[in-house]
Amino acid sequence: MEPKARYDNYRLVRVTLKTDDHVKLFQELEAESDSYTFYGHARKVGQDLTIMVAAHKIYELQDLIERYDFECKTLESNIQKLIDDEALTIKSKDTPASEFDWDHYFHLETIFKWIDKQIAENDFVEGFQIGSTYEGLPIRGLKISKKSGNTGIFIDACIHAREWIAPAVATYLIDQLIHSKDPEVVDLAENFDWYFVPVLNADGYKYTFEKDRLWRKNTKPYGRCKGVDLNRNFDVDFGGIGASMDKASYDFCGSNAFSEPEALAVKNFLDENAKKCNIKTYYTLHSFSQLYMSPFGWSAEPVKNHKDLKKIGEKAIEAIEKTHRRTYKTGSAIETIYPSSGSSRDYVYTNYDIPIVFTIELRGPPDTPTLFILPAREIKPTCEEILNSFIAALNEARRLGYYKCN
Ligand SMILES: [Zn+2]
Repeated sequence: MEPKARYDNYRLVRVTLKTDDHVKLFQELEAESDSYTFYGHARKVGQDLTIMVAAHKIYELQDLIERYDFECKTLESNIQKLIDDEALTIKSKDTPASEFDWDHYFHLETIFKWIDKQIAENDFVEGFQIGSTYEGLPIRGLKISKKSGNTGIFIDACIHAREWIAPAVATYLIDQLIHSKDPEVVDLAENFDWYFVPVLNADGYKYTFEKDRLWRKNTKPYGRCKGVDLNRNFDVDFGGIGASMDKASYDFCGSNAFSEPEALAVKNFLDENAKKCNIKTYYTLHSFSQLYMSPFGWSAEPVKNHKDLKKIGEKAIEAIEKTHRRTYKTGSAIETIYPSSGSSRDYVYTNYDIPIVFTIELRGPPDTPTLFILPAREIKPTCEEILNSFIAALNEARRLGYYKCN
C-alpha cells in the first residue's frame, strides 16, 4: 500500500491581522501558495487566523513576520507528531462491535458493525439509509423511537471527513438514548424520535484513516482536483460568501447546488420525511472551535426565532460549562465563526418547517494546538458535555412551546 500523507515538521501558527496590509498579505498567500494551509480566510483587521505552514516554508514565514510585523504564535511545531500519537488510539479495522467505546477512534467498518449491533439488540431501534456516497458506500442512519406521536430530531455528523470527534459524539448520544437510566436522558429517549446519520461523508472519513488524516471534503474528482466541501453544496446562497469556486480550495462548493450525492441525500431524506416524521429539530456536528451556532452563516439578518435560539443556545452552553468547565460560545454562525454559504444548517432552516437548528463545533478551542486531532482522552468528556447540552437545549425549546403536539 502507498504510504499515507505525512506532515513532518509542518507547523501550526496563529496570526493576528492588525492592518489592511496584513489582511492583503494573507489573502495573497492563500491564493498563491499551497504551502500554507488556511483554516479560515483572511477577511478583516482584528482577526486571528490559524494556518499550517509546510516545513520548507518556515524561514519564509519568519522573514514575512519581520517585514510585515504581525503577531504570530506557534501552536504546534510538528503536526505529524500529533497524527502519530493519535494513531496509537485508533482500534484496528477488524475490531468487533463489542469493543466499541469512547476512549478510542474507530474505522467506518467498526462504526457500521456497532450500528448493526444496536439495531439487532433493541426493538425500538431501526436502521435506514439516506443514499450512497460517490464511491458507493451506504450513508447509514439509525432511528430510535419508543412511541408514536413524538416530534423528530435529525442529527448528522462528519460532513467534514477529518472531524473525528463528531461521529464519536453521535454514537455516544445513540448509546445513551438506548441504555442510560438517567431520568433526564430517558425522558428525551421516550419523548422524541431520533434520526442519526453518524458518518455523512463516509468516503472522506475512510480517506482520513487510510490516506490523509487532514482531508475535509468528499472524494469526487473535479479535473485534476478532488473533493467538494459538502457543507457548501446546499442550495442556499450557493457559491456566495465563504465558499470557493476554485476546485483546489478546501471550501470548493461544487459545480452546482446538490452536485454531490451526500448533500443531496440529506435533502432527499428531509423532503420525504421532515413533515411526515414531524421533524422540528436539526443538529449538525462539527469540530473544532467550541461553538453552538444557529442560522444564518450567509446573512447577518437575524432569523425569525433568533431570540429563542439564543436562549436555547445559552442554556446549552451553560450546561456544557457545568459538566467539565469548557467554555463554548453561542450565537448565529455569521457572528460566532465566519460567513459561509451553502451550509446544511441554513438550508434546513430555510426550506423546512424545522425551527430549532444548530451547528455544534465541538472541542477544542479556536486556538487549539491540535486542530481536528483531538486527543482520545477528550472524547468522553466532550460526549458528556454535549449530552448535557441536548438535555438543556431541548428542555428549553420545549418550555418555549416548540414541541407541542397539534
Ligand atoms: Zn466542519
